[in-house]
Amino acid sequence: MEDYQKQFYNTLAEKVKKKLIHRNFNAIICSTLEEAKESALQLIDEQAVVAFGGSITVVDSGIIDSLYERNQQIINRELATSIEERHQLMKRSLLSDVYLTSINGLTDDGILVNMDSVGNRVAALTYGPDKVLAFVGMNKVYGDLDTTIATVRNKVAPKNAFRLNLQQTPCVRTGTCGDCLKEECICSTLAITRRSKLNDRITIFLILEEVGLCV
Ligand code: SF4
Repeated sequence: MEDYQKQFYNTLAEKVKKKLIHRNFNAIICSTLEEAKESALQLIDEQAVVAFGGSITVVDSGIIDSLYERNQQIINRELATSIEERHQLMKRSLLSDVYLTSINGLTDDGILVNMDSVGNRVAALTYGPDKVLAFVGMNKVYGDLDTTIATVRNKVAPKNAFRLNLQQTPCVRTGTCGDCLKEECICSTLAITRRSKLNDRITIFLILEEVGLCV
């Protein structure tokens, strides 16, 4: 990444960090996804039960492999052999000690915006796991709340529809959101998290590079 881009992300991250802390989130600025992974590993007690939601960024960080290497207890829905088992694992994840996730969009004043299909990811973010660790590339800071919601709905969600190989939704035919209610629709719950009720529960890693889905 060019130096000016890194400087831009760093300046913006310093501002967003203050806003996040004001909203009772923890915020840690990391130069790279690798640095975020190492920082997160240090925050996870080796006896903790860890779960994670669907996230390109979490997978790309390599943290799941690192946790397996140190024999962490992990609830991994990707290992389920049936839909029923997958749902049971997602339900158990809500009672994990630590939940790993990313965020679909972050406003420049520290509000988290997520669109979820089943709802397990936003459920875990909202309540359940003792700690939530969220990896967010600075490319996901989209501006004010209206802009961030519009970006998540009209750009992030359609791209995710292509990533997940949906076949029937308007977005995969036109490239833009058709506000659908199809069986396949991945946009069931739009969650706006404007503060953390509990102190020291949600930690946001602000990563100074482009990670996860780029729009
Ligand atoms: S068309 Fe449906 S699935 Fe696609 S982005 Fe819009 S609401 Fe989501």
